[in-house]
Amino acid sequence: MRCIIAVVALSCFSLSALAGDLGTAAALRDRALGDPTAYRLLESLTTEIGPRMVGSPAAQHARDWGIAELRALGFAHVHAEAFAKPSWARGDESAEVTAPFPQRLWVIGLGWSAPTPPSGIEAPIVVLKSYAELLAARPGAFKGRIVVVDQPMTRTMDGAGYGAAVEARYGVLEAAKRGAVAYLVRSISTSQTRAPHTGIGMPTAGLSPIPMAALGVPDADLLADMATRGAVRVRLKLQSFVRPNSLAWNVSGDILGSARPDQVIVVGGHLDSWDPGTGAIDDGAGVVITTAAAHLVGLLPRHPRRTIRVVMFGSEETGGSSAAYLAAHKAQLGKIMLAGESDLGSDRVYAVKLPAGVAGLPALAPLAVVLAPLRVFVSPDPAKSSGSDLDDMEKAGVPEFAVNQDATRYFDYHHSADDTLAVVDPAQLNQNVAAWAAVLYLAADSTIDFRKPGR
Ligand code: ZN
Ligand code: ZN
Repeated sequence: MRCIIAVVALSCFSLSALAGDLGTAAALRDRALGDPTAYRLLESLTTEIGPRMVGSPAAQHARDWGIAELRALGFAHVHAEAFAKPSWARGDESAEVTAPFPQRLWVIGLGWSAPTPPSGIEAPIVVLKSYAELLAARPGAFKGRIVVVDQPMTRTMDGAGYGAAVEARYGVLEAAKRGAVAYLVRSISTSQTRAPHTGIGMPTAGLSPIPMAALGVPDADLLADMATRGAVRVRLKLQSFVRPNSLAWNVSGDILGSARPDQVIVVGGHLDSWDPGTGAIDDGAGVVITTAAAHLVGLLPRHPRRTIRVVMFGSEETGGSSAAYLAAHKAQLGKIMLAGESDLGSDRVYAVKLPAGVAGLPALAPLAVVLAPLRVFVSPDPAKSSGSDLDDMEKAGVPEFAVNQDATRYFDYHHSADDTLAVVDPAQLNQNVAAWAAVLYLAADSTIDFRKPGR
């Protein structure tokens, strides 16, 4: 009953800029909460494909999987857009303390790490408690040593702790400048388990000047404790190779608009992943949340006015899919009305952010009403970048929206062997689908110019 009253009350707002109706959006939300599509897809992707590093055979299988699933779900114009992308792959990796207290260490190479010689590197370590300590050291200060940065990451709901800590993962050039023979960084993680967390270690593609790896969180602390007792020596073996001529693919499919099919809302997640886990929360979740939400909108008897396009981006972790998407769609850029990416796991959504000037528009007033039962609010703050696959489009003027997820436990698992289906809560996954479906339906059925929302 409350919804019916709200529909009548809000319908008068929809005269200047059209938008979808509250009743349809609420029914879509409720259907999404019980819809099995997202979990089914995520189970399929993690079970049948698993880790999907760019350049690996699994990345090709993931491309084929994406095409087949989008077609089966009724998307139109399903295809893959190939682009060149040099790739890096790890081989055998190990590390150990050789003196004074010999024991094994848990490490994982960082993306674009140079390999060690097959016999490894053995050297004394220096432990720094923060990345700032590394930057403050003079050139040559760590000649012949393995630099270890043991800087912890702070747990936050919005993931801001990651942004503050991750610069240490890119410290290899600074360590090399100071004479280091290898670089070890405490995993950029909020977990206490020994599973180390990988990630790209060079700001741009190309092998690092010295080998680099992440230590499990307890292993970084172990080295710090040993170092208080005197000199510590570590042996590091990291094998890896580069494929200079590999390809990656952005896979996409459309839910065609009923009135303005030429106007497109681009959403998605990234299909590539790191290799220790099965890429469930990073970013299988983003792929399946946006796919399932768009699919549900596509089941409506009348499609919304505008087209909704799901893109499964093919190279986020080491970069490339953002620029490739922009390059392939430059001519239609003016028709991409809005874009949003899901790339912060599968836990509950708590806020939606819209382009500047949009949150208060009467035409989108139903959005707050539909989202409230999901414990999601429409933030008055404008959306900033919602995912790095959209960065180039954003720079080229495409407005973005963001569906903010609770990232409190995301960095316990991210880029580690623990990124598996086991950490996905199906109820929270479906809450994501419900929030996305409501936003997609209302935005796609609107006539709002998100670039100039006042008009
Ligand atoms: Zn990601
Ligand atoms: Zn990632």
